[in-house]
Amino acid sequence: MNDRDDHPLLAGLTAAQRDAVATVDGPLLILAGPGSGKTRVITRRTAYLLTLGVPPWQILALTFTNKAAGEMRERVDRLLEQGPPARGLTISTFHALCARLLRRYAPMMEGAPRWGVRGDYTIYDTDDQTSLMKRVIADLGLTTGNWSPRTVLGQISAAKNQLQDAAAFAAGAADFHSKMIARLYDAYERGLRHANAVDFDDLLMLSVRMLRENADVRNEVQARWKYLMIDEYQDTNHAQFVLSTMLVGESAGEAGASDASSVEGLPGIEDDEPAAPDPAPRGGGRRNVCVVGDPDQSIYGWRGADIANILSFEEQYPGAKVIALGENFRSTAPILRAADGLIRHNKRRKHKPLIATRGDGHRPEVILCRDEHHEAAVVVDWIRALREFGAAGGADGSRSAPAWKDFAIFYRNNALSRVVEDALRQAGMPHVIVRGTAFYQREEVKDAVAYLRVVANPADEVSLRRIVNKPARKLGTTSIEKLAEAAAASGRTLMDTMRDAARVGDLTPAAAGAARRFVELVDQWTGGGSFMGASVPDSLPDLVSRVISESGLEGHYRALRDKGNEEDAERLANLEEIVSSARDFQEQYDAASDPASDLGEARAAALAGPDGAATPPLLALLRAYLERVSLVADADAVDPASGAITLMTLHAAKGLEFPAVAMIGLEEGLLPSMRAMENDPGEPEEERRLCFVGITRAMQRLLITSAKYRSVRGLRERTIPSRFIAELPAQDVIVSDQSESWEEDDFIRRGIEDDQGPSRRPDSGPRSPAARKLLDTFGGSSPRSPGSAPRTRAPVDDPQFPAGCKVRHPQFGVGTVREVSGLGVNRRATIAFLQAGTKTLILQYAKLERV
Ligand code: ATP
Ligand code: MG
Repeated sequence: MNDRDDHPLLAGLTAAQRDAVATVDGPLLILAGPGSGKTRVITRRTAYLLTLGVPPWQILALTFTNKAAGEMRERVDRLLEQGPPARGLTISTFHALCARLLRRYAPMMEGAPRWGVRGDYTIYDTDDQTSLMKRVIADLGLTTGNWSPRTVLGQISAAKNQLQDAAAFAAGAADFHSKMIARLYDAYERGLRHANAVDFDDLLMLSVRMLRENADVRNEVQARWKYLMIDEYQDTNHAQFVLSTMLVGESAGEAGASDASSVEGLPGIEDDEPAAPDPAPRGGGRRNVCVVGDPDQSIYGWRGADIANILSFEEQYPGAKVIALGENFRSTAPILRAADGLIRHNKRRKHKPLIATRGDGHRPEVILCRDEHHEAAVVVDWIRALREFGAAGGADGSRSAPAWKDFAIFYRNNALSRVVEDALRQAGMPHVIVRGTAFYQREEVKDAVAYLRVVANPADEVSLRRIVNKPARKLGTTSIEKLAEAAAASGRTLMDTMRDAARVGDLTPAAAGAARRFVELVDQWTGGGSFMGASVPDSLPDLVSRVISESGLEGHYRALRDKGNEEDAERLANLEEIVSSARDFQEQYDAASDPASDLGEARAAALAGPDGAATPPLLALLRAYLERVSLVADADAVDPASGAITLMTLHAAKGLEFPAVAMIGLEEGLLPSMRAMENDPGEPEEERRLCFVGITRAMQRLLITSAKYRSVRGLRERTIPSRFIAELPAQDVIVSDQSESWEEDDFIRRGIEDDQGPSRRPDSGPRSPAARKLLDTFGGSSPRSPGSAPRTRAPVDDPQFPAGCKVRHPQFGVGTVREVSGLGVNRRATIAFLQAGTKTLILQYAKLERV
């Protein structure tokens, strides 16, 4: 113990955590199990560094999701309550960081061989990539039947994660198949560059390339960030690993040398920040990199993550300090023992003991269900019982009834969510499915975003092709192909070719006129590319709103809605939602934290376009907004304040915690997944880690279910319980087989609609030894699930909230009642909210008002 222990930011931490927070110089590895405070340490350490006087812009913290980055920023701000907000602090995901580095430094790579990315590039998502790849395959005279775009893109992605560009891949291609992939990769890369576009993997690969090849970029970046922290380090891939070493600096000497030479040009020092760099930077010359992680939670191997990155940290940074955190603050002892018992079955690991500080609690329950409908009913009953009897307890361990938001339901893949979701809806339990990408994948939203992308990057051909004739402008496929051919022949972009379409020989005058008018439309918003002039919108929401209305998209969907199409009413609401999201983005945008926009004046002049102008602010904001839209991930939709049960995949659950967790679908082929078993028939260790991650999210209550029959693509199949159930320590879990007691209810509940009832199916019986052991474990049947009685599900007429009426919800805003069902306390309404989407709420709790 010494003076530093009095520091307020070290209060409430264990000795090991304090050590981790206060060790700010030199490489540091924190290797610890779930719930041990690793993420907390990173947050505290960031705040602690700031209180030591480290300027915020010298700190870079990398998290796994945008959501986690946002939360960490909020927490740091809260921890620093007294001080000024930490402007210029970078907390980000790897991809968002790279997107910004690329935007900022791409111009400095101009002229490098096979570079071709400008600062105004577009990020292509999976759909865009597939569109491009299909065209590439056709252009090479191949067929998508023999060359599946998905498979080819998968191989290219794997190469990029290994930092192999098309040329490097071609150099290493020996057999026919690899040589063909190399050709496709090369053409795909050219297609991306022609459209001034990059894919997700490029963000990392191209950033590494800039840092490796350009000493100015490297020096500037290394001079800016002196303190690097990375959460969830066990899930970094090779590209991320190399990137992090480049950010830290190759060697202590080099990092030190760069201090003096380039700190002068340190960008983005705001007026309220000290004008001169710290005269004696803390730990200058030492590589202040702190990574935290848990090898037992590495679950992204299938996407190229390499557990070796964390295991070899000490080799990479000789003399690194290693700290273990031995206490778990999240889960009760039985939950931790179950998790521990499971993960011990992985052979390739080093054991880390974890002490449960929360003490004893309820044992996790494992219930074998009849089928997925029974499973869903069991989950619903479990939630209802915990809420009624308050048995989950509050987060503080009290016995108060848990709120809806205290519950989470996890599954291995999204397809499993539908039946549970239906059951929750019928039971009137508010719930949200965490699919952050869902909104941006809707047709109308993609259309609007495609327009915005063309505004930001007129070379983006995939986006341009998507909207050039939407709504219809008499620019059919034939005309576009003619224009595209002319573009290819002249080496110009499609947009430029459209600009003087009249010169494209075999185009009809009508089509040429339509093409020109389209260009004029875009020119109005962009001021012909200058973003200056009376016709240019003055804010991001204004731009988005004008693009939606002046493009004709809004009118197109309004006309459809007026024909009485409900779905199109929703589409209109979604278009409005994009305008709101642009408004929110503009309000929250912190330019000082955006490495792409915080150019010092000298740098800005050096990097400006040929006419010497810096990026117009509206364009900079639009690019940042589009970047956010492109990088949104499913996990970003987690909203702990939503007042609803959270449904999500196990992968999305990483890093989170909930008082009560249900994990469904623990069956061979689901968890462990079929693909994992095929790839690694011996031991699906990564799948076991995924299961471990799920279990260790639970604070007080855990339910695991497995269904004896499950319908897969309409076919009802006999399943085998997951081997992971049998691996749970028997004394620490309560196992019950309820699969037989359900059948009768099942028939009542569903009406005798299924004439091939479960009992008439041949029972192939369990095959694996693990499954046989499991069935032994299950032994006899236990009492049937308490709430599995038949329930009313038909819609009813509610005098207070008839279908079609407009209501206001305190949190979700205005919406239209679609349907009311259920009786008494179970009466619930399905409401389509303008902003929040469709939700089912219990009337008793919903506090709805008619409007
Ligand atoms: P995971 O491996 O799942 O990401 P983690 O190691 O990052 O877990 P945190 O999420 O940081 O763990 O912490 C788990 C929980 O324990 C959080 O609710 C956190 O606030 C709490 N916690 C951490 N350290 C302490 C402490 N010293 N005292 C009390 N609570 C703590
Ligand atoms: Mg964490």
